Amino acid sequence: MFPLYMRFISTGTVCTYARYSCLCLPCPCKQVDYIQRRGYKKKWAKNEGSKPHTVHALNHMEAFYKPVFKERWPSIRISLLTTSKYCALLNNYNSENEKVEKYLTDLGTYNAMEKAKLARAKYLEKENQQIVTEQSSLPIESLIDFPKRPSHSEVDENDDVNDDDEDVKEDIQPVVGKNTSLYDFIPTKRVYTDKELLQQHIARVATFDDSLLEVPVKVIQEQVPELPEDLKFFVYPKGDISKFPNPKMKHGNLLGYYMMDAASLLPVIALDLQENDSVLDLCAAPGGKTLAMLQTLKTENLTCIDESWSRLSRLKDISKWYIGETPSSMSVSKRDGKLLEDPFYNKVLVDVPCNTDRHVLISEDNNLFKPGRMEERLELPKEQMELLVAGIKSCKPGGTVVYSTCTLSPAQNDGVIHAAMDHLWKETDIDTVVIDISYLRPIFKDIFTFFPKTKYGQLVLPTLSSNFGPMYICKIKRIR
Ligand code: SAM
Repeated sequence: MFPLYMRFISTGTVCTYARYSCLCLPCPCKQVDYIQRRGYKKKWAKNEGSKPHTVHALNHMEAFYKPVFKERWPSIRISLLTTSKYCALLNNYNSENEKVEKYLTDLGTYNAMEKAKLARAKYLEKENQQIVTEQSSLPIESLIDFPKRPSHSEVDENDDVNDDDEDVKEDIQPVVGKNTSLYDFIPTKRVYTDKELLQQHIARVATFDDSLLEVPVKVIQEQVPELPEDLKFFVYPKGDISKFPNPKMKHGNLLGYYMMDAASLLPVIALDLQENDSVLDLCAAPGGKTLAMLQTLKTENLTCIDESWSRLSRLKDISKWYIGETPSSMSVSKRDGKLLEDPFYNKVLVDVPCNTDRHVLISEDNNLFKPGRMEERLELPKEQMELLVAGIKSCKPGGTVVYSTCTLSPAQNDGVIHAAMDHLWKETDIDTVVIDISYLRPIFKDIFTFFPKTKYGQLVLPTLSSNFGPMYICKIKRIR
């Protein structure tokens, strides 16, 4: 191995072992560390600027994900760098879907929803959760003690009272004019370079420190919902990395199945769609989750919006190939979701743009880790929070919102949930709670690997034997 790596160092060619240039990445065989100690640092520095964006992305993950996922990280890392696994979502709108079902089982796959339903029954039996307790039938508002927030009018009134209240005035200690002067010069302990400041900013945006937020987020239990009866998806067993053939119009009038990451179905399952629901898909394109919602056959009123024309046209294509034509119960429009304010819906899906961990590790195209897209990347948590806040505002009191991403970034997952709730508490009269959906773990344990240490939502971790995700899902209920 060693002479081979020496050759890489001198020629700069790509390592066949790790897929990436040995000059930029620690190689699994550890020879690079050895070479580095022998005085090759300069070459590393020289190549720093020309690193592929995928390598920047991996280095970023090494720095910020490794401390979070610890001993799980090497397995997650290799899984992210490996081809992901797909499921086949059965198309209920196809006229001959029994034939498609048979075709899929003949391939060696199984209907994962059937298995999940059995696991749900077992879980309920164990937890004895079928019995609706008296307490859970009470209105949620009566069970939750929300921290009191000053309303805007109260703040104004208090301001007036304080103006007349001499005692309160005396308590205010003027800072200027006592021991310090406005003209005192206090030298900073250290002057940071632009690069250091940027690094600090990147670290702030990439990590989630809930000690900085003031509002405690309430997490409540709900009864384990039924799994959608008509949603069927087929997967190869754990450890089997066979691929599905591309769907063809072989059976019936429309495409028989849609290939997608099975973990992307969890946000739709968590939404628990019911007939008569009025549903908003706030970031809908290119439409994988929209199609999954349609497959539940419970979308009598579905509004899909996205701000990208080109991605919306893909949603329309999917609708044409799988449904035939856009159903009259579904509307599709190009809009900025952040501007929505009116509570028209009782189920809202907010599937936000995110780091897209898999994409940034394998493709240079449209890579968020391009230096030119740094600002966009650093703005993501803010953008995600604004979309989630708009989703919650669009939801009627009593309705639910599901927030999802396909990143492992704690800042873009739990961090955004907390920041949105903090914002709503301070800036509006809206009250929200997080709904505990940890029941997804025992129900889907045969298909997905979940991270046990999230704070609010559930996170599917990619593993080699079950290479789905990453997918973060959090369910929020609007109370007021
Ligand atoms: N839900 C989609 C699916 O399952 O196929 C994937 C959604 S993708 C992760 C995020 C989408 O959000 C992108 O299509 C992007 O155009 C859209 N988006 C970004 N900012 C938006 C905004 N302000 N309003 C509406 N859509 C937005």
